[in-house]
Amino acid sequence: MSKAIYPGSFDPVTLGHIDIITRASKIFDEIIVGVLRNSSKSPLFSIEERVNMLEEICSSITNVKIMSFDGFSVDFAKEQNANVIIRGLRAITDFEYELQMAQTNRVLNPDIDTLFLTTSIDYSYLSSSIVKEVASLGGDISRFVPEPVIEKVYSRYRNIKGKDM
Ligand code: ADP
Repeated sequence: MSKAIYPGSFDPVTLGHIDIITRASKIFDEIIVGVLRNSSKSPLFSIEERVNMLEEICSSITNVKIMSFDGFSVDFAKEQNANVIIRGLRAITDFEYELQMAQTNRVLNPDIDTLFLTTSIDYSYLSSSIVKEVASLGGDISRFVPEPVIEKVYSRYRNIKGKDM
């Protein structure tokens, strides 16, 4: 059975992530989306909230499972008996970091390969940071994140600011 992990922060999950998950789910028998606990960034959503959002959104894709993890992606992949790590590549700016990560991961565990899916043109500009920036200024994020995520993001910023947007 072919199995891959798709690790990331997903803070919050965007339509770009969903596009990668959907496409990867057609290539592999099983995809495990790994939500990283030990991200250095201070997250907008807790790990449980990020996992719950992904579960709700991916519920219709039967071969996708959502889990949280700590530490190295290669160790998580090994624990899950997956030998592929999926990453999305947007612009050339992603490339240098992703190449470095993929090569480091191969040194850490040569049995696990990184597979890059290039972003769909519709989402090539999109990142969780952009979503947060637009939402924090009260802008429209409905073209950036899945429907169930929209209100959750706005509501988080209302709480942060302590006033209605
Ligand atoms: P990380 O903090 O590990 O970069 P992210 O949640 O930002 O985690 O992203 C997880 C993965 O999804 C990364 O491989 C990233 O390149 C990819 N990704 C993020 N946004 C998009 C997008 N708009 N289109 C395609 N891939 C994306």
